[in-house]
Amino acid sequence: MNLADYKVVKSLLEPIGFSFKKSLGQNFLIDSSVCPAMAEYSADKNTGVLEIGPGIGVLTVECAKVAKKVVAIELDKRLEAVLNKTLADYDNAEVVFGDALKLDLASLIKEKFSECERVAVCANLPYYITSPLIMKLLESKLNIDSITVMVQKEAAERLCAEVGSRDAGAVTAACAYYSQPTLLFEVDRYSFMPPPNVDSAVIKLDILKEPPVKVKDEKFFFSIIKACFAQRRKTLLNTVSNTLKIDKSKISDALTQMGKEQSIRGEVLTLEELATLSDLLC
Ligand code: SAM
Repeated sequence: MNLADYKVVKSLLEPIGFSFKKSLGQNFLIDSSVCPAMAEYSADKNTGVLEIGPGIGVLTVECAKVAKKVVAIELDKRLEAVLNKTLADYDNAEVVFGDALKLDLASLIKEKFSECERVAVCANLPYYITSPLIMKLLESKLNIDSITVMVQKEAAERLCAEVGSRDAGAVTAACAYYSQPTLLFEVDRYSFMPPPNVDSAVIKLDILKEPPVKVKDEKFFFSIIKACFAQRRKTLLNTVSNTLKIDKSKISDALTQMGKEQSIRGEVLTLEELATLSDLLC
């Protein structure tokens, strides 16, 4: 059964009267080249794969073919009967019903993948949770090697951008702090059923053993990053003092020590410069 075939998807969903929920980011893949490639990038026979949002299981089965084990978290219980059918031949695939944003992923990984040498996240993400989910995966410091995910093309460009470049945002800095990001390939909107309004891309975040910069206080470092990107059109001096209630003279002194103009905007700082600023202000 080719789960990426439009007719097969219809034949599985019509009998259960399934209607796609936009609010759950339900755009199912109907391009048979994408999932095998994603699975190859994420896993080998010793890897445990954590998938978010299996839908009818199109990526789940490809991961199950190459990985030791796959655990897929799905929010929509209406898909249970379909998944029971499509995953029936894969003893190493299991579905957990719940909200990936709310579940305790560290405990789930510990419980499900104890016999795997490494764990990787692989998913065609529901786009409405892209940033919070990626932040959760990174900030929880899970015992994972990599995150290979399909996201909106613009989000992919942002996540993989150079920190300090025009495309960067707060989430870019978080990605660069925790991982080595790579944009793998693009996928056009007509590879999905129903087609979304935007094209997509698959990215891989290889988790770093050590962050590339050392900071005195990681929590404060991330609040500085968020403040720098909070009001992009304002100067760093104004946005950081407004957001974090830090005295302007203290920020001004820090900028002078760093050899930066007082009129600089936060978004142009590199990761190293954000780390220096954070250490000077904390
Ligand atoms: N993997 C399938 C594919 O590639 O065709 C489906 C991908 S679809 C873009 C996103 C999937 O995530 C849907 O099955 C949706 O029900 C599920 N989903 C949405 N929000 C979720 C959440 N908070 N936690 C877990 N799954 C969620």
